[in-house]
Amino acid sequence: MSITSPNSVDVFVAGGGPAGLATAIAARRHGMSVLVADGAVPPIDKACGEGLMPDGVEALHDLGITIPQGEAQPFRGIRFVSGNKKAEAEFPRGTAYGIMVEHAEASGVLLRWQTAVTGLHPEGAWIAGDLVRARWVVGADGAQSCVRHWAGVDAQQRRNMRFAFRRHYHATPWTDFMELHWGERCQLYVTAVGPAEICVAMISDSPKLRLEDALRGFPELSARLRDAEHASSERGAITVSRRLRRVYRDCAVVVGDASGGVDAITGEGLCLAFRQAALLGKCLATNDLARYQAEHRKLIRRPALMARLMLFMGNHPRLRQRTMQVFESTPRSFAGMLAMHVGAGSTRDYVSNGIALGWQLLRT
Ligand SMILES: Cc1cc2nc3c(=O)[nH]c(=O)nc-3n(C[C@H](O)[C@H](O)[C@H](O)COP(=O)(O)OP(=O)(O)OC[C@H]3O[C@@H](n4cnc5c(N)ncnc54)[C@H](O)[C@@H]3O)c2cc1C
Repeated sequence: MSITSPNSVDVFVAGGGPAGLATAIAARRHGMSVLVADGAVPPIDKACGEGLMPDGVEALHDLGITIPQGEAQPFRGIRFVSGNKKAEAEFPRGTAYGIMVEHAEASGVLLRWQTAVTGLHPEGAWIAGDLVRARWVVGADGAQSCVRHWAGVDAQQRRNMRFAFRRHYHATPWTDFMELHWGERCQLYVTAVGPAEICVAMISDSPKLRLEDALRGFPELSARLRDAEHASSERGAITVSRRLRRVYRDCAVVVGDASGGVDAITGEGLCLAFRQAALLGKCLATNDLARYQAEHRKLIRRPALMARLMLFMGNHPRLRQRTMQVFESTPRSFAGMLAMHVGAGSTRDYVSNGIALGWQLLRT
């Protein structure tokens, strides 16, 4: 729904990306009036691997959103490829969809596209020269968030930055696994986004490395893509692992990448954003942003740990090859890690998987 904006709402959301829309939907579900403003126009073409993990699908479901059949390309697990070693495992439950979620079935949410938010005001926010009065202002304006800065919550506890590029290709998906290819200088991951289209995302420490150059280091993948036409331009992005000291001040609060994030290699950014959005909806309704801050911290813990483990593997090729050897020879250990990645299983399972993996690594 597109409107001329009202000048007073319960919740004003800056940014209509996945986190902003999810927060808007969550707030509507609690009966609040919501206006979302975004500087861009959908469909917003941004660099993303577009893989939605099963826990992300579940998080969307909790917001009352089900992805219609045929609108997404399901994938059933993850395959790691490092040199001549391969390990794969299915997700412990459900199915994931290789699609960037665009769920603006925002029943009752008022949307204004092509409308940048230009500042905060003690009673709301400025958009296109107009003041929108709002009880709450939500910054869902992505990793480079201005709202975070305006609200004075950009002090960070931890930060790590990498560079990412992605492109779509016209190619028939060769697998129903999401593939993560490990290389010396970068990682590539491949997600099916349609019956005849795939998305390849490359992440590295170098701002200069481009996808086509990186592909040369992955002969198997290059061969598959040799004759595939480009279905999109190459889009670049920065992926930041960031932990904020606080995620709200007074009536301004941040969500999604604006509120910190995990390296794109985890494929968990969307799920995290949906979970934060559902939580924020509840906390706005109960006027309890202190609870949002406490639980936000807990939500980011597991994906942040997984990101650190994966980056460690990325930076230590010999350890990675040994780990891949263990994963290849004992698929159960890889399945255990994947279960942990998507939040299935108990802490006990995680610990026993970790010990088993450590023991096998010592023996190889
Ligand atoms: C290369 C790459 C690959 C990734 N792959 C995956 C993956 O496979 N799976 C996964 O789950 N996650 C992945 N992620 C992470 C995921 O893309 C993000 O976590 C997710 O997009 C965060 O959503 P968001 O709404 O917080 O931010 P964004 O998607 O960045 O949306 C922010 C919105 O705010 C708007 N905006 C910004 N400033 C203003 C302003 N001043 N006024 C109004 N509007 C404004 C922007 O136009 C944009 O629409 C990947 C990230 C990268 C970089």
